[in-house]
Amino acid sequence: MKYVSTRGGMAPLSFSQILLGGLATDGGLAMPESYPRFDAEQQQQMRGMSYPQLAFEILSRFATDIPADHLRALIAKTYTRETFRSDDITPLKTLEPGLHILELSNGPTLAFKDVAMQLLGNLFEYVLDKQGAELNILGATSGDTGSAAEYAMRGKHGVRVFMLSPHQKMSPFQTAQMFSLQDPNIFNIAVRGVFDECQDIVKAVSNDLEFKKRQKIGTVNSINWARVTAQVVYYFKGYFAATKNNDQRVSFTVPSGNFGNVLAGHIAKQMGLPIAHLVVATNENDVLDEFFKTGVYRARASSETYHTSSPSMDISKASNFERFIYDVLDQDAKAVRELWQKVEREGSFDLSLHPNFARVKTLYGFQSGKSTHANRLNTIRDVYQRYGVMIDTHTADGMKVALEQRDPQVPMIVLETALPAKFAETISQAIGREPPRPAGFENLETLPQRFAVMDASAQQVKDFIVGQTGL
Ligand SMILES: *Cc1c(COP(=O)(O)O)cnc(C)c1O
Repeated sequence: MKYVSTRGGMAPLSFSQILLGGLATDGGLAMPESYPRFDAEQQQQMRGMSYPQLAFEILSRFATDIPADHLRALIAKTYTRETFRSDDITPLKTLEPGLHILELSNGPTLAFKDVAMQLLGNLFEYVLDKQGAELNILGATSGDTGSAAEYAMRGKHGVRVFMLSPHQKMSPFQTAQMFSLQDPNIFNIAVRGVFDECQDIVKAVSNDLEFKKRQKIGTVNSINWARVTAQVVYYFKGYFAATKNNDQRVSFTVPSGNFGNVLAGHIAKQMGLPIAHLVVATNENDVLDEFFKTGVYRARASSETYHTSSPSMDISKASNFERFIYDVLDQDAKAVRELWQKVEREGSFDLSLHPNFARVKTLYGFQSGKSTHANRLNTIRDVYQRYGVMIDTHTADGMKVALEQRDPQVPMIVLETALPAKFAETISQAIGREPPRPAGFENLETLPQRFAVMDASAQQVKDFIVGQTGL
């Protein structure tokens, strides 16, 4: 399997070659030259597989340049009961016949990003060891992504993580989750400023190409292709858990921000999984809902991006969306390049009159909807009263839209993207009581913390990095 760029300007590369990189050299995103397919008979066999077996079956079609034994061992080391709290890894919870929640948040940071990121940590270590190389991951976080990256990379050789966060602006739980890590390869940098300033520092440091090269700076953002493929696995897992045979179809509703999670669902469908609908749920930041309703993709300015009670979906543009549009346009890289040039220039593009736009619904099965803070509170309360199940604010965005779009003939699976314990304040607001904490998290805030505080200065961050790497 070889990978090409959505913008057509990259010679085909292998999985390991695109693993550590971010954007393709032409500014596009890596995509496989074709999708592997599983027919009904193969899926019947996959139905009985454990999560690691299923993950191997799927990932081995994408990571064809990693020897099978090695890939199997990396997967076995990743998807364990110790890390994900159950042998199912992503168990299906049934609220009522035909309405399910796929639990994706039982990993170390209590959010779905762990499912892919934990594998990424092991893949990075493997590839770096093989190349005798090292990598210094630099990132900015306002919460979820940073902690998932740190828990995936902690203790891995060849990798250091430098994670910037706004000083005293994350929740005490999020802060404690990251800052309590004592691993010598994890560096938390609390920046006296806001999240945007953290992000600007990351950009400034990355734009210093000489520094970037010498310090071997890399990233682990949501456009990483290996993360997308690791997420394909749980769509298969959820489908098998909700059905008895392959004549049945299901729909998935996906709380969405950067379009990484639901893109994996689209790929699962292209690989032959009988998915009826993929329902994209957004919060007040409705870039994606707007596209699926109107055909207009309009990136927002940061001043137009709302801070909401489902903060991990507060995005102004959906970085993985380009991959989906590449498929919609029949892999026409030139057309994709022109559309994104248009976004750069004018802030938006309009596909409503394009002959292929209709297939977004008909062929690919996409639907969408949005949710507000009031909707989240109501949904959290309703689900708790009706089923005795507490859901977090992001999953509530999904549930609200799922109930609107649900077809009584087709089972609906809502993807759970975080546990309520991470968003205790809004849960209390909705139902008047605190969400329970999973075992091991009871005294999180009292653990000793390890972090450095700095001004919002790229130079201070650079000096700190040099001091740690000695490069
Ligand atoms: C990252 C995240 C999302 C959005 O996922 P995308 O892949 O960016 O669409 C939703 N919910 C939670 C809790 C997240 O951390």
